[in-house]
Amino acid sequence: MIRTLALFLTALTAVGMGQPAPARRPVSLLVTNGIVVTVDGSRRVIPRGAVAIDGRDIVAVDEAPAIAARFQGRETIDAGGAVVMPGLVNTHTHAPMVLFRGLADDLALMDWLQKYIFPAEAKTVSPEFVRAGTRLAALEMIESGTTTYADMYYFEEEIARATRAAGLRGVLGQTIIQFPVPDAKTPAEGLARTERFAKEFAADDLITPAVAPHAMYTLDAETLKACRALADRLSIPVIIHLAETKDEVKTADEKYHMTPVAFLESLGFWGPRTLAAHGVHLSPADIGVLAMRHVGVSHNPESNMKLASGIAPVEAMRKAGVAVGLGTDGAASNNDLDMFEAMRQAAFLHKLVAGDPRAIPAPVALEMATIDGARAMGMDKVIGSLEPGKRADLLIVSMSSARQTPMYDPVSHLVYVTRGDDVRTTIVNGKILMRDRKVLTLDRAKVLAEANAFADKVRSAVR
Ligand SMILES: [Zn+2]
Repeated sequence: MIRTLALFLTALTAVGMGQPAPARRPVSLLVTNGIVVTVDGSRRVIPRGAVAIDGRDIVAVDEAPAIAARFQGRETIDAGGAVVMPGLVNTHTHAPMVLFRGLADDLALMDWLQKYIFPAEAKTVSPEFVRAGTRLAALEMIESGTTTYADMYYFEEEIARATRAAGLRGVLGQTIIQFPVPDAKTPAEGLARTERFAKEFAADDLITPAVAPHAMYTLDAETLKACRALADRLSIPVIIHLAETKDEVKTADEKYHMTPVAFLESLGFWGPRTLAAHGVHLSPADIGVLAMRHVGVSHNPESNMKLASGIAPVEAMRKAGVAVGLGTDGAASNNDLDMFEAMRQAAFLHKLVAGDPRAIPAPVALEMATIDGARAMGMDKVIGSLEPGKRADLLIVSMSSARQTPMYDPVSHLVYVTRGDDVRTTIVNGKILMRDRKVLTLDRAKVLAEANAFADKVRSAVR
């Protein structure tokens, strides 16, 4: 206390006498000399800005000289005029499905699931498979600028361990499904697994465990209610596929004479910290329910186009106040995890369907991939923008390729010409996961070799 007071007085005297400024605050990391695209409340873009990071948190975002005057970084990264932006938030994946990438394309969803994906999963998915798949997905995400992702798969505790080791942030949902799956013979087994998983990661800085009932058409009412009850009891989020196809809406109508949203509402299923993937076939009343219940929606334009599922009413949802984030879906239906492409495709798709090029402009696509994705997952106080007090999840994105030259507007460039490969450096929770294209938390060659070894097993499983 005395020491602090003495420092304060010295500082005061120095300033008063017009002498050099007081000692700068030491912080763990400075990222300086970048075009800082904050995606904060005022959507500030700082042409020559810097971000001060201490430990896992952002402590200041400002003009580079102002940061240099106030902070002394133990480590400094010169962004060299590249864009510094919040890490991308992928609101819907099945991470290990990267191992099924390109296995079967150009099929209807039910054919694709029932003839290829479910049989391949039944024969190959194991803790080892899931670990190898998650490492490959994590490598791809780090290399293409995703810092947080929402997942639904099997052996989710293994996904969580691999995600944490890679240094990524995840909201990871243990899948619950009515029929026997690789990690559970019954939904009750799946729920017990979820509870163990949730307890193991209850206080984790990077992992938020979740329960992931697969969809209303793959679960009975009792199990759907049990998933909600478990989530409430453990205070964990819920992730579910919702109204992805016309078939799902037809099934709900035939079985319950309701839409999928209305059926789930009738069970008391909806609530905050609930993330619904797809939301393609929604009525205005459905959208009203999602808004009223503060349900977040993950829009997956590439998967919806590839599987011809339909076009989600994104503008209507946004107008109703629903938080809509962007997702890639599993790599088997995309076929990559590049969120830059998801932004571009979302912008293009909604312009086309609206017959209006003003639909989903570049700043909105960027918001959907960052702050709105965070909001859809109930994490917008923690991630999704570059602001003091939030976690230090950020990217340095090169803007010097021929494809990016010249640059009039960095936000336009991020959405319309930038690719995942342009990401130079990825930082999560204040830790550098990739620096100048070198991933530091994973052995790249080993991850790729391991993935290729599993591909042989997948090939023989669907033969
Ligand atoms: Zn999905």
